[in-house]
Amino acid sequence: MLFIDGHKYNSTFRFNIMKRATWVVWLGVFLILLVGGLLTSIVEQSILSYQGRAQMQSLEVQLQSMVRRLEHDLNNVLALNYVLADEIQADHGHVDTQKMQQIAQSMLVHYEHVASITLSSGFVVDFVYPLQGNEAVLGMNYRFRPDVMAGVQRAIAARDTIVAGPLKLVQNGRLGLIGRTPIFLYAPGEPEYFLGVVSIAVDVQSVLARAGFLDPRLPFRFAIRGYEEQGAEGELFYGHIELFKQAHLSADIRLPGGRWRIAAAPVKPKYASTMAWQWSIRIVGGGFSLSLVWLLLRMRRQAQRRTEFSHLVHGIFSLRVFIMVLLVLLLLPIVLASSYLSYRNALQVAEQYSRQLVTEVGGRVYDRIVSFFDIPRRVLAFNVEQANAGLLNPQDRLQLMRGFLLQMRQQPLLTFISMGMADGEYYAGSRPPLGFDKGLRMLHSRKEDGHSMRIYRVDDANRRGSLVSEGSSFDARTRPWFHTAMKVGSMGWYPVYQYAINDIDSAYATLGMGMSAPLYNDQGDFLGVMTADLALSQLSDFLAELTSANGGIAFIMEPNGELLASSFQEEIYQLRPDYNPIRLKAADSQNPIIQAASRSIQQQTQPDGTLLFEIEGRRYQLDWRHYTLLQGPTLDIAVVLPDASFTGPMRDVLYNSIALALAVLVICMLIGLVVSSWVAKPLAELSHWAEKLADGDWNAVAPKSTPVQEVICLSAALDAMSNQLKQNTLELESRIQQRTADLEAANKRLAELSTTDGLTGLANRRHFDEVVSSEWLRARREDQTLALLMVDVDFFKRYNDCYGHISGDTCLKMLAGVLKNQARRGGDLVARYGGEEFVVILANTNAEGAQKLAEKTRKEVESLDLVHDHSPFGVVTISLGIAVCRPQEGRTEQELLLAADHALYQAKTNGRNRVCLEPC
Ligand code: GH3
Ligand code: MG
Ligand code: MG
Repeated sequence: MLFIDGHKYNSTFRFNIMKRATWVVWLGVFLILLVGGLLTSIVEQSILSYQGRAQMQSLEVQLQSMVRRLEHDLNNVLALNYVLADEIQADHGHVDTQKMQQIAQSMLVHYEHVASITLSSGFVVDFVYPLQGNEAVLGMNYRFRPDVMAGVQRAIAARDTIVAGPLKLVQNGRLGLIGRTPIFLYAPGEPEYFLGVVSIAVDVQSVLARAGFLDPRLPFRFAIRGYEEQGAEGELFYGHIELFKQAHLSADIRLPGGRWRIAAAPVKPKYASTMAWQWSIRIVGGGFSLSLVWLLLRMRRQAQRRTEFSHLVHGIFSLRVFIMVLLVLLLLPIVLASSYLSYRNALQVAEQYSRQLVTEVGGRVYDRIVSFFDIPRRVLAFNVEQANAGLLNPQDRLQLMRGFLLQMRQQPLLTFISMGMADGEYYAGSRPPLGFDKGLRMLHSRKEDGHSMRIYRVDDANRRGSLVSEGSSFDARTRPWFHTAMKVGSMGWYPVYQYAINDIDSAYATLGMGMSAPLYNDQGDFLGVMTADLALSQLSDFLAELTSANGGIAFIMEPNGELLASSFQEEIYQLRPDYNPIRLKAADSQNPIIQAASRSIQQQTQPDGTLLFEIEGRRYQLDWRHYTLLQGPTLDIAVVLPDASFTGPMRDVLYNSIALALAVLVICMLIGLVVSSWVAKPLAELSHWAEKLADGDWNAVAPKSTPVQEVICLSAALDAMSNQLKQNTLELESRIQQRTADLEAANKRLAELSTTDGLTGLANRRHFDEVVSSEWLRARREDQTLALLMVDVDFFKRYNDCYGHISGDTCLKMLAGVLKNQARRGGDLVARYGGEEFVVILANTNAEGAQKLAEKTRKEVESLDLVHDHSPFGVVTISLGIAVCRPQEGRTEQELLLAADHALYQAKTNGRNRVCLEPC
């Protein structure tokens, strides 16, 4: 129960209100901080994305200048072709090898990007500079190399330089670009004659480095592909294809007969400056939110103070707060729930998708690995069958090796096809697994050379070229593959081992694995052991290539946990001089993802599957599959994809939905503010108006109209009430005024009555007593004389008896009139002393004056001639006693009265109708 008057209300009620109000305020504070925090993070995101755009713009400028430089360099180099072509044309088609070598040599000196210069006579290469390391190109017939022929034909059709590639250069396996220019001879009167093609191989890596693209401090990553998006011309040849799919900058590089497109994306935002930005935004956001909280608390305090009825609203929230809180309570759960649900859905979809993707990628990698491992089997089976059919002649060793080299050309992933003879000799065709020079090699260790391993380059026709290096002594019978083949007696996989070819370039300083088989001729004689071998580095490169497109990691693990290959660039083995290499176990990998994945696989019992695991707060999808090598171990092929590639868009979904929901919330709150202002403002105005009315300001103007119906009704009711109140108050005021006037008149009369004698209208005895005392004091103060007349009607008893009391009263009235007429000075007072006796006070009057006045009065009464038959004078007469005195300290007015009375007595006794003076 609430008592408005006396400012008291039920304590329980008050307590409840207080509690609720505090709760609402804290809820408001919480909401401000929450919305403030979210808005800050949205602003942060947008500023970051703005920064990202600014960063992209500056990158664009940098990229364009680098691209122009690259284009310029490439075109300059490619233009060298014309120099050679012109030279040949000038010599009418005659190629002077020595002259050509000189020109080529000077070109190579001036242009470091040029890898080699090649001339073909017709379609067969007959000149290459430098020869060293480029033997593989010499003798190459373009007609049998369709990949090369396509470029040559394009150049012939265009009759101008065209760019082929980029492709892996045959010489060193590095990325190269070949500019081909056809040479035609024109003789007058004869048809034009196609002489050949001049080709210049450019090391793309070095051109890129010169243009600044390989600078490790480069603020962007980049990828290059052909201009067309599809087909051979549009293939990616540098970088990561993903760059073309995400937000990127792009620029075109125009080359003769071709065009490239380059895509670049920033590596990452500048960390320090971003952090500074983020923190300043956070501080501003936080400060703003706290200011809002402060404002809210202040507004609440002010709202409480604003009205004189504040004691009533103490602890109660305003309508605006009520509407806002209501809105927030309704909308916030919806906002949060919808954000959470969309986030969860996105998460589920992303997880599903990533699982699907990892299965797909895992399957693809598995298929490729299976076909990869199938290569040695096929190659070996082919050779075994050839030997069985007597088509392989181990005696013609050179022919044997050329046969191997032919097969090596078909199998770019193989490292060796070799044969160890029964007497320990060794013959092989090989592709060096390490180093830049990937040109095919011919290897042999012969008894006549003292079993020393010799390594030669080969030309395009598989003929032996220059000696690359001469290694240590090598006996095939001591090698693990030889042992395995002898032990098993048939074709099978041999375990991983360390190559024992100690060449000068260390191109074989790695591990290998493969299949070997003992060979027998058709008579059943043992010929030797044949192998098809894969280098582990080759396998790792293959894995890296397979996973490069999706940013994942793949590895192959043996049953004992040792890594066979890994797409992660780390040393998975350590070579030892005793040929017992130390192998790295997957669980000891430097890469925590490989560690965790290998542990997960070893805990599983199924041969294949997918699972999700988490390291350092990041999630990864793992796909693993078993693969058993023929007569060999069972391998685990694992592919791991980061879940983050899906959580990015998912987080975007979350941010978008939160931003959208917050926007709705903010709009609703703004609408709420407007609506509450709509309702609350007129109410506040009404309250203000009512307060003025309560203060009695009837002229206070009623608030303006409002669109809210209830408020209009309230306003109208209040207006009517105020009018009624105004009318009542005015009526009451006029009535009070009337009453007050009446009361004042009555009071005045009462006061008069209290000092006046009713019969004669003279001052009464009480008034006289007051006046005589004050006059006495005044005279004493001013040292003046004070005279007092005491008057008595003679024989008045008889008059009454004779003429009656009514006549007596009339007579008294007349006498009073005479007395009043005589004593008219300011200090004079005539009073009825009692019965038919009167007194006259004469201030500042001496005895003489008093006597004169007394005598005059006596005569005036006598001359009234009022018949009094029972008086010896025949008319009404009066006797007067005079007392005059100068009041002094120690005397009282009583003495004056007594003296006057005494004088009157003298006048009576002396015969009446006379005046007697008594000094005092
Ligand atoms: P003296 O000459 O000695 O004064 O004779 P007296 O008759 O006047 O004597 P006294 O003073 O004893 O008488 C006063 C009389 O005055 C008595 C009374 O009848 C009369 N009287 C006193 N007061 C009033 C009054 O108010 N009206 C009337 N009509 N008569 C009064
Ligand atoms: Mg008398
Ligand atoms: Mg008398």
